[in-house]
Amino acid sequence: MKEVWEIDPKRHEPGFVLHTAGWPMENDTYGGAFLYHMEGNPVSLGFITGLDYANPYLSPFEELQRWKTHRNIRWYLEGDESKGIKPGKRLSYGARAITAGGLLSLPKTIFPGGALVGCDAGYLNVSRIKGSHAAIKTGMLAARAAFDAIHAGRQHDELTAYPEAFEKSWLHAELNKSRNFKTGSRRASCPRPS
Ligand SMILES: Cc1cc2nc3c(=O)[nH]c(=O)nc-3n(C[C@H](O)[C@H](O)[C@H](O)COP(=O)(O)OP(=O)(O)OC[C@H]3O[C@@H](n4cnc5c(N)ncnc54)[C@H](O)[C@@H]3O)c2cc1C
Repeated sequence: MKEVWEIDPKRHEPGFVLHTAGWPMENDTYGGAFLYHMEGNPVSLGFITGLDYANPYLSPFEELQRWKTHRNIRWYLEGDESKGIKPGKRLSYGARAITAGGLLSLPKTIFPGGALVGCDAGYLNVSRIKGSHAAIKTGMLAARAAFDAIHAGRQHDELTAYPEAFEKSWLHAELNKSRNFKTGSRRASCPRPS
C-alpha cells in the first residue's frame, strides 16, 4: 500500500529515507515500511504486508493506517499549529504486489524461445525490498544470451547461457546472502513446542 503526501517544508528533508520493520504487525507476519522524502515537498510512504499472513482479520490497508499513527511517522504528516507547521495533505494512493520469494523460489527461467527476467521470475532482494537492479541485471544477462544465440544462427531453443551467467554474477551472490531472510524472520518469532 502506498501514499504520496505533501508535507510542510519545515519537516521535509529531500533525500531522507526511513525504513521500518515489524510494528504494527504481529511478530509472525512478514512486512515493513518505507518513507522517502522526494524533491520538493512530497513524501512517498508505503507499508508492505506479506500476503501469507495467518490472521484472517488482518487488513494490509489498515496496517498502513495504523503504521502512520506511530509518533515518528505522524510527526511528518500531522503538523503542529503551535509551531506554525501545516498539516500534510495526501495527494494520491495505490497498491501493488511485490514478488518476494527470493533465490530459493526461483522457477526455471528459460523455455524454448523465451526467458523470465526481473520480478516475473522473482529476483527481488526481499531483505532490501529492492528489485530494480535485479530486473536490469537479469534483463542484461538474458539479452546477452539472446544476442549470442542470434549471432550463432540459433532460434527457438533454450538460452542456457542466461541462468549459467546468473549463477556466476554478483546478483546471485547478493541474493544468496538473503536467501533465508523471510523464513528466518518468521521462524524466529513462531511459538516453539514446549
Ligand atoms: C511499493 C514498492 C516499492 C518498491 N521500492 C523499491 C525500491 O525502493 N527500490 C527497488 O529497487 N525496487 C523497489 N521495488 C521493486 C521494483 O519496483 C521491482 O523489483 C521492479 O520494478 C521489477 O521490474 P520488472 O521490470 O521486473 O517488472 P515491472 O516493473 O513490474 O514491469 C513489468 C511491466 O510489464 C507490464 N505488463 C504486465 N503484463 C503485461 C502484458 N500482458 N503486456 C504488456 N505489458 C505488460 C506492466 O504494466 C509493467 O509495466 C518496489 C516495489 C513496490 C511495489
